[in-house]
Amino acid sequence: MDALTAGTVLILVQFCIALVMAGVFFAAPTDKCTRYWAISGSYIALGVLIAILNNRLPRAFVLLSGTGLIIAGLIYQWHGILVFYKKQPKKWGWGIFTAFLLTLAVLLYVDATAAQRSILYSVTTLALLGLSFQAIWQGQGGSPRTFVQRLVQGAIVLLMVSYVLKIGIAVTYISEGRMTTILSTTPEVIVTYLIPTVGTVLFSIGLLLLYFERTVEENRHLATHDELSKLFNRRAIVAAGERELYLSIRLQRDLAIAFIDIDLFKRFNDEFGHAAGDTVIAEVAAVLQQTCRSIDMVGRYGGEEFLVILPGVDSQSAVQIGQRLVEAMREYRFLGIHPVTISIGMAILPRNAECSWAQLLRRADAALYEAKNMGRDRYCL
Ligand code: GH3
Ligand code: MG
Ligand code: MG
Repeated sequence: MDALTAGTVLILVQFCIALVMAGVFFAAPTDKCTRYWAISGSYIALGVLIAILNNRLPRAFVLLSGTGLIIAGLIYQWHGILVFYKKQPKKWGWGIFTAFLLTLAVLLYVDATAAQRSILYSVTTLALLGLSFQAIWQGQGGSPRTFVQRLVQGAIVLLMVSYVLKIGIAVTYISEGRMTTILSTTPEVIVTYLIPTVGTVLFSIGLLLLYFERTVEENRHLATHDELSKLFNRRAIVAAGERELYLSIRLQRDLAIAFIDIDLFKRFNDEFGHAAGDTVIAEVAAVLQQTCRSIDMVGRYGGEEFLVILPGVDSQSAVQIGQRLVEAMREYRFLGIHPVTISIGMAILPRNAECSWAQLLRRADAALYEAKNMGRDRYCL
C-alpha cells in the first residue's frame, strides 16, 4: 500500500467521524461532551488533510497548522472525556499545545529533519493519548468492566503503540543519518496510517458507545426508580412482584410480600410542612432498604406506602421479618426526636399453592387494614 492511498483513507475516516460526532451533538446538544468530541473530530480531520496534502512540501505554515490542528483536536477529545465524567477540562492542556507549536517552530527554524519533527509530534500525541486513557480509567473507577470500556481502552493502547513504533522508526532514521521523509516503506505506512486509522475508528466509535451505554443506563434507572425514596417505583416493584410470583409457582418456592404504610403520616405534613414529610418518606425508605436482605425488593407503591417482595420466605420467616421491620422503625427518630412507626400487612404464598398477583396484593392490603385497626405500629399476617 502506498502512502497516498493510506493517507486518503485516514482523511476520509476522520471526516466521517467528524460528521458522526457532529450528528451526535445535534441529536443531544445539552450534553457538553459531544460538543467537545465534534470539535475534536473536525480539527483532527482538517489537520490530517492539511498534513497529508502537503506531505512533500515542508513549508512552515502548513506544518504548524496541520499538526497544530491535530494536537488541538486531541486536547478537545481528552477534555470531552473529562466533561463526560463530570470533571472540569484542564486548562493547562493548552500549555501542551503552545509548547508543541513553539518547539515545532524552533525545529523548523533550525532546519531539523522530518524524523526529528516526527519525534516531537509522536511524543506530544502519546502524552495526550495517555491523558485520555487516564481520564477514562479514573472516570470509570479503575479497570474496565464492560465490553465498551475494554474496547475504548484497547483502542487507545493500539494508538499509543503505533506512536511508540513511529518514534522507533524516526530514531533509526536519525541514527543512520537518513534525511528523507519517513514513509518510504510498507511497514512505515502501516505504522503511520493503517494502525492509526483502525485505532481512531475504534477510539471515536468507542467514545460514542460509552456515551450511549451511560444514557441507556440512566434512562433505565429513571424509568424504574422513584426519585424521592431512591427505591423501585410502583411500576418496577409490581413488575418484580409479578415475576417473582410466577417463578415461585413454577419452582414451587415460598413467597411473601409486605405492604407497609407509615402511621399517622399526615401529622408530619401538618406539623412540619410537606418538605419535612418528604424527608420522613426518604428516611423510612432507607431504613426499610437497610433492614431487608439483599435479595428482597423494596419499592414505593404510592405516597407513604411501600411494597416489599420477599422471595423464599415462609410464614415463620415472615413473622421474624415483620418484627424486625417494625422494631427497626421504632428505633428511628425524625430530626433526632420524633418517633415514626409503620404498620405492615403481610401475605404469604406457600409452596405448592397458586394465586394471582391481584389476590396476593389484596390479602396483604387486608392484613395492613387489620394492623391499622389493631392500633398501628405492628405487622399482621
Ligand atoms: P394512617 O395511615 O396511620 O391511617 O394515617 P395517615 O396520616 O398516614 O393517613 P393517610 O394514609 O390518609 O395519609 C397519607 C398522607 O400522605 C396524605 C398525603 O397528603 C401525604 N402524602 C402522600 N404522598 C406524599 C409525598 O410524596 N410527600 C408528602 N410530604 N406527603 C405525602
Ligand atoms: Mg396511606
Ligand atoms: Mg399512613
